[in-house]
Amino acid sequence: MDAQPFPPVLPTYSRAPIAVDRGEGSWLIDTDGRRYLDLTSGIAVNALGHAHPALVEALVAQAGRLWHSSNLFTIPAQEELARKMVDATFADTAFFTNSGTEALELAVKMVRRYWHAAGAPERQTILTFEGAFHGRSIAAISAAGSTRMADGFAPLLPGFRTLPFGDHAALEAALDDTVAAVLVEPIQGEGGIRALPAACLQGLRAACDRTGTLLVFDEVQCGMGRTGKLFAHEWAGVTPDIMMIAKGIGGGFPLGGVLATARAAQAMTAGSHGSTYGGNPLACTVGSRVMDFLTDPAFLAEVTRKGAALRAQLDALVAARPGVLTGVRGKGLLLGIACAVPNTDVVKAARDAGLLLVPAADNVVRVLPPLTITDDEIAEAARRLGTAVAALQPA
Ligand SMILES: *Cc1c(COP(=O)(O)O)cnc(C)c1O
Repeated sequence: MDAQPFPPVLPTYSRAPIAVDRGEGSWLIDTDGRRYLDLTSGIAVNALGHAHPALVEALVAQAGRLWHSSNLFTIPAQEELARKMVDATFADTAFFTNSGTEALELAVKMVRRYWHAAGAPERQTILTFEGAFHGRSIAAISAAGSTRMADGFAPLLPGFRTLPFGDHAALEAALDDTVAAVLVEPIQGEGGIRALPAACLQGLRAACDRTGTLLVFDEVQCGMGRTGKLFAHEWAGVTPDIMMIAKGIGGGFPLGGVLATARAAQAMTAGSHGSTYGGNPLACTVGSRVMDFLTDPAFLAEVTRKGAALRAQLDALVAARPGVLTGVRGKGLLLGIACAVPNTDVVKAARDAGLLLVPAADNVVRVLPPLTITDDEIAEAARRLGTAVAALQPA
């Protein structure tokens, strides 16, 4: 094949025509100085907004002290963050990664190793749900079972089976003695802000208890305070055995992790897993500071209050333009607007009005403000979205 001119950045994204320069709280500023109200938060990552002074201070102080040491040594910031995670959750232990995808990889390894050590290596299948998103590695696209993400990447990894979303009968039928674990997002993010009802999560927990199956939650997007609880599963009053986290935990610094009970993690002995950067001092220092905010009940109550305020304003926009927008769903500041017109048209019209939103599957537009968004900014976002949808022809 003749070499064709090719962009220096591998063109795997269709990017919006905005070159980002800097951020201030809920605002993203491009290289031309234009200011956008940023309700993407870097896809639910910048939980405390852009350039939060407490995070800048923590990062800069750590940067002058130690950037990296590897996991050959004890990393005090990593120990501190793990302690905060264990104290605030169901978990007994934590492993830190650089991303949600790497958390998925460890979660899968932990499940397999658990059954290997339990003397039941035939329990290999991990059940997942249609519409799921767990990352872009081979294991992650195999787990999600989406033909779009897997196209051209065969052979996929065996050991996953995708069930229809929320189909309890299919789950009961699938839960035989070859099943190792069930992996689920309590609220699907990329899948279009689709929540598993609390009763489903409770039924899932009961079914896993009955069959000894491990329950793995992927809270990479719905966790870290976004729904008004530290983790979304808390609303249903059930806990997993293993949980993936990432996105919001680093507030913008690359950080993820796996939390687990001692029982689920018991086979992960020295040498069974590792990461050069995972749990690095810079990442854990920032993550530890983020946790101080997200474990404050007053902060979480504000997320719930502001989520309700934003939702009421979005509901009013839907009522005013039912031919363009059809409904609002989600919880806290993890919201999705179902669209009657193509969701990408809504995202573009909003961008033209100075408001940044994220498309998702199921023709949904995600509204993911920083958890620190102010009431004035919520009102401004609704005003700008109103301008955007007024400019769109109803379907
Ligand atoms: C973003 C996401 C991932 C993957 O995280 P990366 O940091 O992009 O690797 C996994 N699961 C869910 C639910 C996500 O939203």
